[in-house]
Amino acid sequence: MLLEARNLHVDYGDASAVWDVSLDVGAGEIVSVIGPNGAGKTTLVNAIAGLLRCRRGRLRLDGCDMIGIRAHEYCSHGIALVPEGRRLFAKMSVEENLELGCYLAAARAVRAQSLERVYELFPVLREKRRQPAAELSGGQQQMVAIGRALMARPRIVLFDEPSLGLAPAIVDAMFDIIGRIRSEGAAVLLVEQNVPKALGIADRAYVLEQGRVVTQGLPAELLRQPHIREAYLGV
Ligand code: ATP
Repeated sequence: MLLEARNLHVDYGDASAVWDVSLDVGAGEIVSVIGPNGAGKTTLVNAIAGLLRCRRGRLRLDGCDMIGIRAHEYCSHGIALVPEGRRLFAKMSVEENLELGCYLAAARAVRAQSLERVYELFPVLREKRRQPAAELSGGQQQMVAIGRALMARPRIVLFDEPSLGLAPAIVDAMFDIIGRIRSEGAAVLLVEQNVPKALGIADRAYVLEQGRVVTQGLPAELLRQPHIREAYLGV
């Protein structure tokens, strides 16, 4: 497995937000995590990105133990996050925001090729490369956040709610991009509230409720479960 999380526990003070969660992402896989508001999805993905400390558990990337590694080093191991809410620097240009993704020496060395690849994926960002990020539409800002993650040449991209607040046509385009990122070789861990889309694109999926994995499997299997149909699809 490329990414192996085993028995992860993440707390905020005395409160547990993620409880004994184990999940795997294989090379070239798209794995989705679905669950209601407050289930712990953002907490889980931030812990896997190295931004939150795990109280217990194991996290391995390609066999390398990640627990105890400092947050900024997660990136050099090949984990990149597209965070909820995009987190761009509003006054900086599109290109300056993208370049923040390649601050490490190895990524910096291939900066020009990486930028070209991002602009091929998102031609509109090339046009707007000198504009402040704040002047872009929500969908275009999401493209910058994805592009910034790709500038690090990741082996796995973690997406936290990439479709949040976007118009349906833009959501479709966003999911096409996620598929392309995988076809170009990176694995994807996707946290998403748009359950039909998240299950539609995934090879496997986990359902997180109240900080725990309650069920997991192939999307087609999950879609047959009455609980999933009632709670997430309203049928
Ligand atoms: P959403 O879809 O609303 O983002 P989520 O599934 O991503 O939800 P989390 O944001 O991970 O869920 O939250 C999990 C739990 O942890 C919730 O009960 C939330 O209130 C709590 N929580 C989240 N962030 C903090 C924080 N910084 N301090 C304390 N508790 C927090």
